[in-house]
Amino acid sequence: MRRLRRTKIVATLGPASGNPEMIGRLFEAGADTFRINMSHSSHDRMRELVAAIRAVEKHHNRPIGILVDLQGPKLRVSTFADGPVMLDNGATFTFDADATPGDARRVHLPHPEIFAGIKAGDRLLLDDGKIRLTVTESDRQRIATRVEVGGKLSDRKGVSLPDTLIPFSALTPKDRSDLDAALDAGIDWIGLSFVQRPDDIAEAKKITRGRAAVMAKIEKPAAVNRLDEIMEATDAIMVARGDLGVEMPLEKVPGIQKQLTRAARRAGKPVVVATQMLESMITSPVPTRAEVSDVATAIFDGADAIMLSAESAAGQFPVEAVSTMNRIAEEVESEEGYRAIMEAQHAEPEATGADAIAAAARQIADTLDLSAIICWTFSGSTALRVGRERPRAPIVAISPNIAAGRKLSVAWGVHCIVAEDAKDQDDMIERACRLAFRDAFAKAGRRVIIVAGLPLGTPGATNMLRIAFVGAEAGGD
Ligand code: PGA
Ligand code: MN
Repeated sequence: MRRLRRTKIVATLGPASGNPEMIGRLFEAGADTFRINMSHSSHDRMRELVAAIRAVEKHHNRPIGILVDLQGPKLRVSTFADGPVMLDNGATFTFDADATPGDARRVHLPHPEIFAGIKAGDRLLLDDGKIRLTVTESDRQRIATRVEVGGKLSDRKGVSLPDTLIPFSALTPKDRSDLDAALDAGIDWIGLSFVQRPDDIAEAKKITRGRAAVMAKIEKPAAVNRLDEIMEATDAIMVARGDLGVEMPLEKVPGIQKQLTRAARRAGKPVVVATQMLESMITSPVPTRAEVSDVATAIFDGADAIMLSAESAAGQFPVEAVSTMNRIAEEVESEEGYRAIMEAQHAEPEATGADAIAAAARQIADTLDLSAIICWTFSGSTALRVGRERPRAPIVAISPNIAAGRKLSVAWGVHCIVAEDAKDQDDMIERACRLAFRDAFAKAGRRVIIVAGLPLGTPGATNMLRIAFVGAEAGGD
């Protein structure tokens, strides 16, 4: 089975989509990678979902990616003695280290790390930014604030600190335990929430040790400010527009989305655009015009993947949400304007053999109107470098390593086939043609270009480029 689009789709699983039958339907409708959100899943639930996804993968004989998203240091206030309280504009409200239930003047903030880092003038946002406060003074026991925009505050509402560098890592004790369980379950991508600095990624990588790739969720201003270093450290990023829109003025989010997408494309690392893409489809079988336009914009920007959250996890129309994204992507990518943008924005090759070959492969495929660019790859990195070129010709990656195929399920334009390694160069060429024919990427009599590293099995040694005819016999096998 092949997809007729290059942009990948990530679908979050949840109560609306957790059973094996539904996961199969979502895959058939277009989901390439499934996301399991550890804010809402127990370890047992996560393992059940992984098993169900792997069953679908086996049934369709196509690698499927699994992204386990860690909750991260989501800050929350404690509880109130007599239910919700009203914070009035101009009033003073205090957060303190005292565990007594709160009232209209104070509440317990059960995160001692914050008290040390926060300073007068910092903003403090409550309940997804609905309530806005400014810190007037603070010490290790209390933070006094002035209410700028008031509202009703209830138990355990979220706290955002856009101006404060919080002196703790992106991995809480819960995250560490979730991460161990996810690695044991054999998942492909780990989503790191509220990344602030490159060290957060290094810390996660010390634990993953290559067993899963790391996707840094960019949802704090601190991360945007250190984007270059974070991009260097991570394997992929997510434009996490939900929390980004709380920590930053909403009108800044579209510009940041473009900045992040461009930076990731330049680095050749996958970028996933996430949150509220088809929000109204939680309760409606059709999206709004504005949502369609939002999905299209991410595709026109050249994002590797677009993501569904509550639409597929908890909505009434999960399959429709996936097939809507699928249709939008197919349509946008067939527009002449899309090709023009991909070509105008493609990044210069870096001075490596892999990039030189990837750029040459794109150019040759264009000049000779070849049917596909086929890469033999072990880790998947050659396929990523070819994808970075955003070529017109489809990219087929052949790998003996199923983990690479699963990881590439968030990468732009790569159709990955898991197959045993080639015996020699002739076998490599012959099987590349045969598999491209089998999966409908090339007809008999058409030519393809094959990219590989020789000798076989040497990682990072992309050095071969061959043009080959897909013979009539390709179909005979
Ligand atoms: P979340 O992350 O859904 O885990 O909060 C995505 C976002 O903030 O946009
Ligand atoms: Mn978030």
